[in-house]
Amino acid sequence: MDMLKKIIEERPQRLCKKCGKCCKIVAVDKTYSEFKAEAENGSQDAKDFLDTFIPYPSIDEVLKTDRETVENIEDWELKTFYRCKYLRDDNLCSIYENRFEACKKYPASPFTDLPEGCGFSGWAFQEGEKIKQSIRKLKEELLNYETELKTSKSSKEKNQLQKLINITKGKIDRYESILPEYIDV
Ligand code: SF4
Ligand code: SF4
Repeated sequence: MDMLKKIIEERPQRLCKKCGKCCKIVAVDKTYSEFKAEAENGSQDAKDFLDTFIPYPSIDEVLKTDRETVENIEDWELKTFYRCKYLRDDNLCSIYENRFEACKKYPASPFTDLPEGCGFSGWAFQEGEKIKQSIRKLKEELLNYETELKTSKSSKEKNQLQKLINITKGKIDRYESILPEYIDV
């Protein structure tokens, strides 16, 4: 099974504190006017977004809601903030059984930027470290295969080593595809 899929499927849902922060503070690069223009031009994604998310009237309102989370978002001053219209006053989802796939999968990776105090923080750290360790191990194996390939005399062995190199590179690529660019392994 794909590793990320397995991590998400086995993620302990009980860790969610039901604080609603992830539904309350949604930072997006697009402004409301940009979404509106796209929706008017027929973009279904933009229509779906506007059907679900409501823009905050001002940055002060966003900061008042959750300053810590907002200030931890990179370039937050350049973002537009929205909240989900389905979030109830008690921080629970009013369409929980029918919530979106993205909500069911949240956080979709251990490397997702989580709101301050999110119950998944510890889980994300541990799973993220496991992924990083797996990548390091694979890189060591790759180095060994490549070294062996350079000194190998037999063509049969060379072929086998080349296959192992390709398989290992493929695994590393798959793991790294879920890492944000700024994370060094
Ligand atoms: S921020 Fe984390 S703990 Fe809070 S509701 Fe979202 S997933 Fe659950
Ligand atoms: S649909 Fe529910 S779970 Fe998804 S963002 Fe809205 S309130 Fe949160």
